[in-house]
Parts: sequence; C-alpha cells; structure tokens
Amino acid sequence: MYSKLSSVLVATIFVSNVLSSPITKDSITALSLPSSFSRHIRVRAEPNTGDEDLNPDEEPHPNKLEKVERAFNDAFELAGYATTVIDDPNRQNIFTKYFNEEDRANVRKVFATIWTQPSDPDAPAADGGSPFLGEIMVQQADSRNLCGDPRLIAYLDQNNAPNDVALVLCSRAFNKKGVTTIQGQDPQGPGAENHYLTCDSIGDNVSFRMNSLGMTLLHEYTHYNRMTQSIFNAPIIDQEDASGNPIGYGPVQVRTLDKALAKLNADSYAYFASEALWTVLCQKDYGDPVAGQDDNDPDCNNTSCSG
Ligand SMILES: [Zn+2]
Repeated sequence: MYSKLSSVLVATIFVSNVLSSPITKDSITALSLPSSFSRHIRVRAEPNTGDEDLNPDEEPHPNKLEKVERAFNDAFELAGYATTVIDDPNRQNIFTKYFNEEDRANVRKVFATIWTQPSDPDAPAADGGSPFLGEIMVQQADSRNLCGDPRLIAYLDQNNAPNDVALVLCSRAFNKKGVTTIQGQDPQGPGAENHYLTCDSIGDNVSFRMNSLGMTLLHEYTHYNRMTQSIFNAPIIDQEDASGNPIGYGPVQVRTLDKALAKLNADSYAYFASEALWTVLCQKDYGDPVAGQDDNDPDCNNTSCSG
C-alpha cells in the first residue's frame, strides 16, 4: 500500500516530519534519519538570488524564484540522502554502481561539505549549508552566452571567485520539477503534477526523469572549487575523452564512466544522489538506465543535459 502513495505525499510527509501515514516499520526507519536532517538544515547558508533577475512578484506562481528556492531545499535533501545511503549497510550496492569503493569516504565528504559546515563535515547535526554556497549567485542572465546550446541546462562561472560567482540556469532548467514543497503550489492540489516528481512519474529505471532542478544545482555545486577541490586535491569537472567529447553526462554515461574518473565527475554525484533519494522515498530499487531511452531528455534536445 505504501509503495502506491505518490512520492509527493511521501516527500511532503518526510519534509514536514509528520510521519502519520500507515507505513511499515522498515520505511519509518528509512525515513526517520533524513527527517532529522531536514530540521537541522533550515538555518544554513545557501546561494543568493537577485530581485531583478528572479522577480519575487513574477506571475504565475509558482514562479522562477519559487522554483529556485525549492531547488535549494531539494539540493540539500539530495546531499543528505546521499550521505545516508552511503552509511546504510543495507544499501551499499548503490554507491558502487557509480564510484570505487576506495572513494567512499571522500565522496561522502563532498556531499557532507555541501550540506554541513566544512570545518566538520563528519558532524551531520551542524546547522549546515556550506558557507561557500553563500558566495554563489543563482541567476537567469546568461552572462557567458552559452544557453544557446540546446543541451545545456546550467553552468557555473567561477572565474572571478569568490567575489563574483554565477550559477546560471538556462531557461530549460525551469521545466524541471522537484521534490519538496514549493511555495504557491499545493502538492495535493490541481496542477501539482507540473511541479512535483512522483514515484509513479519517474518510472522504474534510473533516468533523466529523476533530474530535478535541485539535482541540477547539486551538479553545479560540486564544481565549486573553493568548496570541494580540497577533498581530492583536484577539481570536480565534467569528464571528457581525449577528443573532448563528454563521457560523464547523464544516467548512462555515469554508469559506464571509468570509476577512477567518477569521483571527479559532477553528474556522478548528481545521479548517485538522485538514485539514493528516490530509492528511499519510494522504497523501490531502480533498474539500470537504458541507452537511448533513459538518457534522452526532451528538455535537453533529446540527449543528456549538460551543465
Ligand atoms: Zn558540469
């Protein structure tokens, strides 16, 4: 019965920490850990937005600013679930679909650094949100004029860090839905399907359907060198082959990528975290992504989104 609930309901229950539904003991255990994370991360650093670039009064609601603010929450939830699943002895197999076992502690540190204080990334009770996130401005303005590429969903311009760091969301990014409650749209109300991912809508395999706006933010966060570069003493990039072709974008490539490169590949983090979150929220194991089916995102020209 529980598995038939939509993830909207599950996520809403989870986020508001009201576990009133008739769910099994196992799922209470699975959900209770991240719920406590939610309480702790309400007071935290997060990126900035500009009133002129993302107008709070834009109609209709939920507007772009509201989508971005919800995505801030979703990115933290994704990072929180990723650390939870890394630590869960019953879910160790998800990690090794993406990364080498020997990188477990440092991959965990990337996620923990994003949603908690970097001074103590092993302390999940901290009022998290890396202070480095506060150096980032999320904007629509395409300052480097790159969004004409129909595959590009977002990019991070950190050439002038720390004083001027832009996380640019291309217009297609706003097609992406999310997980946690969004202001201006009741998760149970009419039109909710346009703004919430659900266990039913994301299908049975790991796929682009899991790609939320928050997942896109998480991808870009991992690129921010001031926040993450010290963990591997190397930047987390988008891996390419010797000819410059991308080999690390989307659900299929992150599974076929050489695992020695995965720890330095942004979408490996984004897709691992998404599989972790949905596996726990929907209490379901997902099939492997199928090329040409699960990586052909219509929002990104029927290919994997790049960013
Ligand atoms: Zn990237």
